[in-house]
Amino acid sequence: MVHRSPRQNVDLRSLTYPELEELVLSMGERRFRAEQLFRWLHGQGITRLDQMTNVSRELRARLGQETTLTTLRPLEALGSADGSTKLAFATADGHVVESVLMPEERKVSVCLSTQVGCAMGCAFCATAGLGLVRSLCAGEIVDQLYRIRAWLHQRGDTRRISNVIYMGMGEPLANLGGVRRSLEMLMHPLGANLSSRRITVSTVGLVPGIHRMATWSFQVNLAVSLNATTQATRERLMPTAKKNPIPRLLQALRAFPLEKRRRITFEYVLIADTNDSDEDAARLLRLVAPIPCKLNVIPLNPTDACNLRPPGAERVDAFCSIIRRSGCTVITRNSRGSDIGAACGQLAGRLHEETGPA
Ligand code: SAH
Repeated sequence: MVHRSPRQNVDLRSLTYPELEELVLSMGERRFRAEQLFRWLHGQGITRLDQMTNVSRELRARLGQETTLTTLRPLEALGSADGSTKLAFATADGHVVESVLMPEERKVSVCLSTQVGCAMGCAFCATAGLGLVRSLCAGEIVDQLYRIRAWLHQRGDTRRISNVIYMGMGEPLANLGGVRRSLEMLMHPLGANLSSRRITVSTVGLVPGIHRMATWSFQVNLAVSLNATTQATRERLMPTAKKNPIPRLLQALRAFPLEKRRRITFEYVLIADTNDSDEDAARLLRLVAPIPCKLNVIPLNPTDACNLRPPGAERVDAFCSIIRRSGCTVITRNSRGSDIGAACGQLAGRLHEETGPA
């Protein structure tokens, strides 16, 4: 359903393909117009309606009156010594959204934000300090990718963005509608045409959201930030654990209809003297054993927001080797971009105060 009211224009970039068809039909246009519009909006990532050169002037004028075109305004690109780049964008209402570009040997990955700020309140995360300002609409989520693509292009970089992770600011499952639409648009062959195997949505572990995702007609990779092995520690680190206790979370994941060759990723932020003991490693293995999964262990990136610290390198090694010995796949990596405040948990839209409303 395309909702429209005279006061609030529909955002063209937030419409899925079938919704765009419905819109053009409701405007008395032929169905194929939707294909043209979708290519411009998502394949090309245009920022102005007059760039749609094969669409009549009249239709462009009507679209200009009856719809809006959400576009993020690039504010700043900060390069890290490790090759990653943090890009900050302004929304039309003057908020700052941050995304991270991570070139790797054979692929380019981007980390997208789903909300301005976040309501989850994790003790170790800088975004939590902002509280929730608002959710991003689908158009704002996908436009991060289109602006990054344009930025690469401008610099003569022809690499394709192949991997997308929903791991920037915000909790994706607290913006499930926007996230779902954005995924449908990114996977569409006339848009960015990303493979569902190369998209990952990361959640703090909201059980109702996981149940909802289980009913979707398509699947992307699911990552769950576990971060603790006892309910008490998890509640201390992640207040949302109270309403989403570990047993219910694991039960929802066991019930998740994982497609062939897919595995759940468990993320585990290692924090000194909090969740990094040998017993934690053993408990972690027991907890995840019934679930086809891999583990992603991330030593804490310190933020100003809290006085938690990462364990020393030896403790990190000891923790990971216990897991490795069990045969479980474990990836340990220091997050990229920590020198520019772009690593996991460091996105805080710091530009906001400096720029004010656009
Ligand atoms: N809300 C979602 C996605 C954003 S956080 C989620 O919780 O998964 C992305 C990842 O960064 C999560 O795994 C989170 O646990 C991790 N993270 C947050 N703060 C961190 C920090 N200071 N150091 C390392 N990882 C952090």
